[in-house]
Amino acid sequence: MFVDSHCHLSFPELQADLPAIRAAMARERVDRALCICTTLEEFDTVHALALGHDNFWCSAGVHPDNEGVQEPSVEDLLALAARPRVVAIGETGLDYYRLGDRTVDDMAWQRERFRVHIRAARESRLPLIIHTRSASDDTLAILREEGAGADGGVTGVFHCFTETRSVARQALGLGFMISFSGILTFKNAVKLREVAREVPLDRCLIETDSPYLAPAPHRGKTNNPSYVPLVAAQLAQIKGCSIEAVADATSRNFERLFGPTVHLTEHTST
Ligand SMILES: [Zn+2]
Ligand SMILES: [Zn+2]
Repeated sequence: MFVDSHCHLSFPELQADLPAIRAAMARERVDRALCICTTLEEFDTVHALALGHDNFWCSAGVHPDNEGVQEPSVEDLLALAARPRVVAIGETGLDYYRLGDRTVDDMAWQRERFRVHIRAARESRLPLIIHTRSASDDTLAILREEGAGADGGVTGVFHCFTETRSVARQALGLGFMISFSGILTFKNAVKLREVAREVPLDRCLIETDSPYLAPAPHRGKTNNPSYVPLVAAQLAQIKGCSIEAVADATSRNFERLFGPTVHLTEHTST
């Protein structure tokens, strides 16, 4: 059985198709998914998915790309973190990819927002879901400044990993896991597959980040959690192991990171 550790089922292109997506997940043996929050305004919709389905859980956080939205305080995040079936803080982090006519200096608000999430993760004892794009140096520096790491009581996952081997090593050194998306299956992702070869299987997660980044052979189409076995198959090929071994390891890692509540109850309906 597979776990999609990062998807956006609250987005309209997926929300409307939920029954069909859940049927496809059951068919492809994807038994669990973590629904990711990207704004405070969106939280109730994401949370409703987790409350309404016993194999869905959710996070609480504000994505670094979201501007002109409600800015979270540590207290806001802690209040949401205390709600049932909320198992992570994020997605949060830094994204300097679309600076436009701004400089990195202008992105101080992103860095401040990231620090707020790290503090909330420490206080709530929930793992962080980190999004980093064109900003890995600052992402790692802020994590260190905020005392993140296994001994600092804050770990989590670098989601949809596309960074270098050096960034992966540093993230692992801080006690974080690395999550691979459909990008791993893209023809031109040669470097990323080399990184994946190095990340120990007991520190890997798999995800779709749907509706984006559908894995090959669905590249360019709307993604959904039922495609996560394609990421697992690619990872298995890289590791030279069976897809079952990847499914088992990534499911166990998911449980280790997000805690005892992400186990399925005995009579789960799908
Ligand atoms: Zn992201
Ligand atoms: Zn995401």
